[in-house]
Amino acid sequence: MSKNKQDILLLSLNEIKDFLLSNGEKAFRAKQIYEWLWTKPVSDFNDMTNLSKNLRYLLADKFTLNAVKVENMQISKDKTIKLAFKLHDGMLVEGVLIPSENRTTACISSQVGCSLACEFCATAKMGFCRNLTAGEIYHQVVQIMNISKEKYNLPLSNIVLMGMGEPLLNYENVLKATEMISSEKGLAMSPQRITLSTAGLPRMIKKLADDNVKFNLAISLHSANNKKRSELMPVNRHNSLEDLSEAIVYFNDKTGTRVTFEYLLLGGINDSLADAKELAEYCKQFPIKINIIEYNSTNDARFVRASNENFDQFVTFLKSRNMVVNVRRSRGMDIAAACGQLAGKKKK
Ligand code: SF4
Repeated sequence: MSKNKQDILLLSLNEIKDFLLSNGEKAFRAKQIYEWLWTKPVSDFNDMTNLSKNLRYLLADKFTLNAVKVENMQISKDKTIKLAFKLHDGMLVEGVLIPSENRTTACISSQVGCSLACEFCATAKMGFCRNLTAGEIYHQVVQIMNISKEKYNLPLSNIVLMGMGEPLLNYENVLKATEMISSEKGLAMSPQRITLSTAGLPRMIKKLADDNVKFNLAISLHSANNKKRSELMPVNRHNSLEDLSEAIVYFNDKTGTRVTFEYLLLGGINDSLADAKELAEYCKQFPIKINIIEYNSTNDARFVRASNENFDQFVTFLKSRNMVVNVRRSRGMDIAAACGQLAGKKKK
């Protein structure tokens, strides 16, 4: 057996072709292999049933197929399914399947852990371990898609990069994975059904605009006050709300796409009428949608869910200012479905 095997998911179609030719195999097999990797993905070379046994053996001898494996699955009463995926090096990341009335969403991770240290986030407590490869990001979608069909007979309609990690700090791999998800050679899902969620890195948001991406962009805002936001999200200390708004205007001008703000309503922290007014004022600068999210409690006693009264007051105020507001109620509360809660538990 060869040592130092390469992950075959890192190879392009041409690179697979070159490998085959240099090993006395026919070039057309490259397309078949590529399809097994990306279009009808398998996680074992043995499942590539239209290849000869010898070729399957050769591939297994020279390469690894670092697809993700389901290590743990929890199903909530509300049908949300939380998954811990095991990577080839034993590390864990999370994915969630969220079936709702009119859509079936897969929430996937882009990094193992995260370096951005948001105060309210369970993943932040793990620190940063490593970036996921494009194949690892892609194969989470494949696994969740299969589980959705198996358990509920539902195809996936939407994908959100909102799990563990900051996708814009793993830029190349995330873009490659989203390209394959929307490619005919991959899962052929419209990029408009993919949403990348970021903590808000202005320089990288401008890069997305320059790269003319077609997927949706969501920004975790959580406060429209620099002091408060810097306390909740240390990333704001070097990327102020002013820098962020400049990047949003740039993104909006270049792509014509309306950005979404995610706003987690935390009791006594960012849920007052004054907070809502600051948010409405900030949002005057660009066309925007706002998702107001109910907090899913972790074991962190510093944060509690906003009271129903404050929640309603906040939403009502924004609506009175003619803002596009969606309310996202917490899902999978009985199975700790907030980002980082499951992998964090396993890690402990
Ligand atoms: S909320 Fe997102 S960006 Fe912030 S620490 Fe958690 S995973 Fe990282």
